[in-house]
Amino acid sequence: MLPDAATCYAAMLARDPAFDGRFFTGVTSTGIYCRNVCPARPPLAKNCTFWPSAAAAAAAGFRACKRCRPDAAHGSPTWSGSAASVRRGLTLIDAGQPTDALGDRLGLGARQVRRLFARHLGTSPVAAVQAKRLAAAVRLIDDGTMPMAEIALASGYGSVRRFNEAFAGIHGESPSTRRRRRAGETMMHLRLSRYAAPVGELLVVTDPDGTLRALDFIDYDERMRRLLARHYPVFTLHDGAVPAVIVAALDGYFAGDVGALGQVPVATGGSVFQKSVWAALRTIPAGSTMSYGALAAQLGNPGGARAVGIANGANPIGIVVPCHRVIGANGTLTGYAGGMARKQWLLAHEQGAQTTGTQTTGTQTTGTQTTETRAAQPRLI
Ligand SMILES: [Zn+2]
Repeated sequence: MLPDAATCYAAMLARDPAFDGRFFTGVTSTGIYCRNVCPARPPLAKNCTFWPSAAAAAAAGFRACKRCRPDAAHGSPTWSGSAASVRRGLTLIDAGQPTDALGDRLGLGARQVRRLFARHLGTSPVAAVQAKRLAAAVRLIDDGTMPMAEIALASGYGSVRRFNEAFAGIHGESPSTRRRRRAGETMMHLRLSRYAAPVGELLVVTDPDGTLRALDFIDYDERMRRLLARHYPVFTLHDGAVPAVIVAALDGYFAGDVGALGQVPVATGGSVFQKSVWAALRTIPAGSTMSYGALAAQLGNPGGARAVGIANGANPIGIVVPCHRVIGANGTLTGYAGGMARKQWLLAHEQGAQTTGTQTTGTQTTGTQTTETRAAQPRLI
């Protein structure tokens, strides 16, 4: 008999050997099932489903844990004797055999099949099929945006209502509750602050760890929010202070220590390719520039200048991830998401600081800079 969920969970936390083999835990967040004595860190209670046998957990679509090897547990009656018929029955179910025809295929009466399933799996053939379908549904619910009605159909249910009932019966919550809960778990709570820079007021977005997630100019607020929405499907944005370590780095940078931004922790969403481009940008030293083609070649894709240019333009973390240091092959500044005047200002600032080391910028006011105020022009390559 399967102990109740609270007892099972307590037995897991205690790794109580007296319960070994009496139930198995299917972890919905990982798709793995375990013995209660598993040495791995116990999963959260809300992610646990409990099964009377290893075979029942496996039939529900969970894979055996490689650490506690529930599929090879000693003392479990599951894999001995007439379990062979049950295993064969499960294989037939997997292959699409209707459950009411199992007896014929196994050379057993229908009642005997039900009794064997009940004894070895603690469940009926119909329930085993249902558990398997519902485990497949979990992946669709968590992975994608497929509407619930389609998931219900794909999982073999004729109506959303029946799907909801069956799902809640096994998982303890409705499919839509699960989807909302999972979405809530990946919610990004972001903090928006402002920094008055000589080149214009900056919007600084950080996460709860103080990692920089976005940096843009105040007149590009809308673009910044659009990029955030693309990278973080669900996020909140509330006003707050710029973390001290980022203030110090920005102060240092604008005061002429142009390498100061190198240590600012950053993180972004985006594709693997975009991330590789943005990581490469941070390797271009302040005071120098690189062409799109050279950056593409550095990334191992000499023909990829255009793709690099597009990724460069989608960089959500201006200045700190220095997309302004990338210029055209012919030495022109090409474009800049924050406006050409600012690109020119930043490059001149970095090169001025590199050559003189004493350029002061603290008295600059916000707004568009004109090039005649700069002593040093960008050195273009
Ligand atoms: Zn385990």
